[in-house]
Amino acid sequence: MGKKNKQFVEKITAMEDDFAQWYTDVVKQAELVDYGLVRGTMIIKPYGYAIWENIKEELDKKIKATGHSNVAFPVFIPESLLQKEKDHVEGFAPEVAWITHGGEEKLQERLAFRPTSEVLFCDYYSKNIHSYRDLPKLYNQWANVVRWEKTTRPFLRSSEFHWQEGHTAHATDEDASQETDRMLGVYADLVEDYLAIPVLRGRKTDKEKFAGAKYTLTIESLMHDGKALQSGTSHHFGSGFAEAFDITYLDENGESQFVHQTSWGLSTRIMGALIMVHGDNRGLVVPPRIAPTQAMIVPIAQHKEGVLDKAYALRDQLKDLVRVDIDASDKMPGWKFNEYEMKGIPVRIEMGPKDIEKEQVVLVRRDTGEKEFVALSDLEERLPKLLEEVQENLYNKALEHRNEMTSEATNMEDFKQTLDSKGGFIKAMWCGDTACEEKIKEDTTATSRCIPFEQEKVTDTCVCCGKEAKEMVYWAKAY
Ligand SMILES: [Zn+2]
Repeated sequence: MGKKNKQFVEKITAMEDDFAQWYTDVVKQAELVDYGLVRGTMIIKPYGYAIWENIKEELDKKIKATGHSNVAFPVFIPESLLQKEKDHVEGFAPEVAWITHGGEEKLQERLAFRPTSEVLFCDYYSKNIHSYRDLPKLYNQWANVVRWEKTTRPFLRSSEFHWQEGHTAHATDEDASQETDRMLGVYADLVEDYLAIPVLRGRKTDKEKFAGAKYTLTIESLMHDGKALQSGTSHHFGSGFAEAFDITYLDENGESQFVHQTSWGLSTRIMGALIMVHGDNRGLVVPPRIAPTQAMIVPIAQHKEGVLDKAYALRDQLKDLVRVDIDASDKMPGWKFNEYEMKGIPVRIEMGPKDIEKEQVVLVRRDTGEKEFVALSDLEERLPKLLEEVQENLYNKALEHRNEMTSEATNMEDFKQTLDSKGGFIKAMWCGDTACEEKIKEDTTATSRCIPFEQEKVTDTCVCCGKEAKEMVYWAKAY
């Protein structure tokens, strides 16, 4: 390996040595983000944004396919509006960024930069829903929000982030619960099928639910370092917000009823999951289905006559089949190999004079590093298949890792020991008492991640207090 290449690789800290530093290095070296001028903000660079856009595009399709319409609400929330729902304002108060002046003039009322938009939608619905014929209202918006965070990390916790937030209003509680389930399903399918990240589906405990919600459903994924990441949430509000904001409709009998609402969101945080689930010591690994470039052509000995022409012809031949690009710059092939491994491009296509002579190319997959020689005549068939194999392998690897990193605990000693030595998810029974949940967090720093829909019985008694257990809970240290 040449000196230049070696230096390049050394820019990433090994994940075994310092996982947090590895993460920061990858984010920077793969050119996903830069730090913004205001602490905790980030500039999402072209490559990072291209990945997010692919996620967004897929999710947007699914949101529309389930009957929702996109809208755009203002970024400002008058303080009085934010105060209307007690739990909600309490939950968000410490993180709200306030606008106090317009030009030189002090505002009569402070304005919040939206930390989330429930109250804006509630205000709108209170004025625009009159009859059962107006229901359901199925709105979604793609937006940026601001939460004044104390400790921040790119994608995982930033003062400003991008997301979609769905806000819906329904005639009955049952309709709202179906919606809550449906959208969690949409998130789970997106994250598993496109991002190749297996998720646990379940309900949050009351302590961990969204401020103002009746209940919150969540998908939880496990990062390479054994910590969990909440990857998408769907909230059932019951009629709590409707009562606070007086959102009523006249039913078929002419009687006034409160609506039942939901909200659901998936954010740029998922980019953090993508990095920490699939990445390795060579950098990012992007699943083919969301990769902006699925295959990168690297010509070998490109100064030799005919090589570049053939490489460009290859790109043109493949471009309707897969998202393909070519690097014909005068940088050394070794530099290019490192660069596209760092960026996690799923497949590299090498083509040099010898390959041209043999009418073949070399395919190198990013996930395993395996090489294969493929005849040019077979390439159109082989390449899409190989991309699917990479996609599948990434999912299976992540699932295997999660399975290995999932343990059971029957008492607190086991719980602590497993958490300290191994990390990962711990399945343990819970009595349902918030006091136990708080004690577990205090003693171990693990939080309840979800009460999975697929329940299992580990023991009969609560792992913390020993009283009769109600439910099995997944616990973990989390981002
Ligand atoms: Zn207990």
